[in-house]
Amino acid sequence: MKVPAKARVDLDAIGANTALLRERAGGAEVMAMVKAEAYGHGLIEAGRAALVGGATWLGVARLAEAVRLREAGVTAPTLVCLGVPGEPYEEAVARDVDLAAGAIWLIEEIVTAAERAGRPARVHLKADTGMSRGGTGERDWPALVDAALKAEAAGHLRVVGVFSHLACADEPGHPSVAAQLGTFTAMLEHAERAGARLEVRHLANSPALLTLPEARFDLVRPGIAVYGLSPVPELGSFGLRPAMSLVADAALVKRVPAGSGVSYGHAYHTERETTLAVVPAGYGDGVPRHGSNLLEVLAAGRRRRIAGRVCMDQFVIDIGDDDLSAGDEILLFGPGDAGEPTAQEWADALGTISYEIVTRIGARVPRVYTGRAL
Ligand SMILES: *Cc1c(COP(=O)(O)O)cnc(C)c1O
Repeated sequence: MKVPAKARVDLDAIGANTALLRERAGGAEVMAMVKAEAYGHGLIEAGRAALVGGATWLGVARLAEAVRLREAGVTAPTLVCLGVPGEPYEEAVARDVDLAAGAIWLIEEIVTAAERAGRPARVHLKADTGMSRGGTGERDWPALVDAALKAEAAGHLRVVGVFSHLACADEPGHPSVAAQLGTFTAMLEHAERAGARLEVRHLANSPALLTLPEARFDLVRPGIAVYGLSPVPELGSFGLRPAMSLVADAALVKRVPAGSGVSYGHAYHTERETTLAVVPAGYGDGVPRHGSNLLEVLAAGRRRRIAGRVCMDQFVIDIGDDDLSAGDEILLFGPGDAGEPTAQEWADALGTISYEIVTRIGARVPRVYTGRAL
């Protein structure tokens, strides 16, 4: 079916990026983070492509994401990183999904679920080593470890992992990184001294994996780098290849006179008689409205700025006297091969991070896959 706007996802790029990350991880295993539809790339397809590339674990934020992986037949060890009250943890236990626990109330919920499921839950204890987001801090850590090991002794769960998350790994040399690493090591040692027999210790996200060898431990958890976007843009691409291209076919091309006000609010006026092209992708598809009169796209081989406001379903570009017909493809962003902007370039123009650009591409935009998945 022909669709006016689509996100092309290059599964070979995801596979190759994962292979590169696995290489850079030394001996550590790779958990590909596939939360939020694999950062917009498609949970199932991207997850499978990462497994082809050598990831041996998958990581998600919500239990529902893990359940979808299992329903699609993906059996790789999968960790739900975000524990919230009232999730159907029994289903996680039944489907052999690993759970993060960073609070005693959560361990209690998981124990209840495991009792109902009739088998032990697999749990990774979550340490707050200085990000002050999820997990238990150093002061309350002994109590969490104690509660988990008691539940383990009672047969309700297996403490398979200890993990934490870094706040500033994308700023190499930030003093908090070394501090978090030290705290993590101390909290790990406490858990092991208390009797935890861990399968995996894990801390590193993409930037730490690529810039901080000491942070690798047994398992690394890259997200953005799997999709080919640099976790530390100032340090270059690390040899990664962007997997997503956002493309749209011109809906309408027409000549307009000089002085024409374009789109809502007339935030753009044509300087002379010119050709406008209507591009069928808008903020309803994830094109940021803050990109009005700002973001560039590639049309007829040339960079063109969005003319006026981005609308819900469309925006306009002024292509001068260039030759373009309705139905011709316009590249919004991609790996940059043809001179199109990258998601990083859009992010820089908008004052955000590439993560947000690809993740916000909406459900209305079909993902079209090229390359190989399992
Ligand atoms: C999202 C996430 C990651 C991956 O972070 P990137 O910066 O995309 O590599 C790693 N660990 C946890 C717990 C996460 O939530």
